[in-house]
Amino acid sequence: MTLEIHVLGTSSARPAQGRSVSGSIVETPNGMIVVDCGEGFQNRLVKHRSAMKSFGGRRLKMSKVGAILLTHGHLDHTWGVLPWLQTMALDGRKDDLWVIGPTTSEVVDTLLDSEESPEVSPSDLVIQYDMWMDLGATSEALGYDIFWILGDGERWVNMNDGSQIDLPQPINQVTISAHPTQHTVPSCAWKITTSERKGKFDRKSTSQLPIDIKQSLAAGQDCEYEGQMLKAAEYRSKNEPGISVILSGDTAEQAIESDCNLLIHEATFLESHSDIANEHLHSTAAGAARTAIECNAEHLAITHYSGRLDNPVASLSEAREIHSSVIGLSDGDRLILNNDLSLTHLVKSPEGWTQQ
Ligand SMILES: [Zn+2]
Ligand SMILES: [Zn+2]
Repeated sequence: MTLEIHVLGTSSARPAQGRSVSGSIVETPNGMIVVDCGEGFQNRLVKHRSAMKSFGGRRLKMSKVGAILLTHGHLDHTWGVLPWLQTMALDGRKDDLWVIGPTTSEVVDTLLDSEESPEVSPSDLVIQYDMWMDLGATSEALGYDIFWILGDGERWVNMNDGSQIDLPQPINQVTISAHPTQHTVPSCAWKITTSERKGKFDRKSTSQLPIDIKQSLAAGQDCEYEGQMLKAAEYRSKNEPGISVILSGDTAEQAIESDCNLLIHEATFLESHSDIANEHLHSTAAGAARTAIECNAEHLAITHYSGRLDNPVASLSEAREIHSSVIGLSDGDRLILNNDLSLTHLVKSPEGWTQQ
């Protein structure tokens, strides 16, 4: 069981230095999740999918995307949503799709308690939701069921009918959770965790037992056999824990209150510009590395570079002084978090992907 992250944009705020704005696909064993979907997302997706097909023959099926998770309402993270929804409609999508993002507690109160429209800042996702609806992003117009969910991390509102719901879990055996971050608009990091897997049943040492005893042991029931008590737990290896990735979105340096195996964190600035980072509630590469240590992350991948950075070299060396396993992401990269917690970094070139 692996988690594979396809990184389709690593620039902050606007396309710069040949990099595009935010957008990633997290491929789980049971479906895909898009985290952020900035301007031009589907253009990049088309190129990425055709490269995946040419160099390896693997198809990324868009019907497998079960959710779009938004970290906040800045347009470099959201402006690609609507055109892509419409393309999926043109392609005849029939599968359900969840679009989930953060808003303020005040907005949640208003959505749940009154008929009035909440007062919000222009970057609040509530405004984009209204705009998307006006532009035809309804289930009726798209031809597939789309569920819009906004929440403050604790309470989630189904915008389709105004009801309060638990945070949806659109992918089987995968848990998503939202973790508050600190930015100039309501924001959160998203954690994606695969389920714990049952250990393997020991067929060899049960091969001489009668079939009904074997079946009971496999089902986890202790059995008496020829005067001996056979413990089911002794015939199965330990459960394998799930693996997890957190994608930070935009945030000032702050603890994300959850552990993970891989942290993909913004590193808009270098420490030499920490004053600007603090002013705009962004992080430095060193700050991202400190957060990775706080999250007990085995690996850190940095992204969302300021246009003033030509490449991630300086960011990488800054972060590596603090954390021992850091990758500087580029557009088109693929990261594979393996079950044994090793990380495979595939870098895109015109000839396909090469392992770093
Ligand atoms: Zn951003
Ligand atoms: Zn932002």
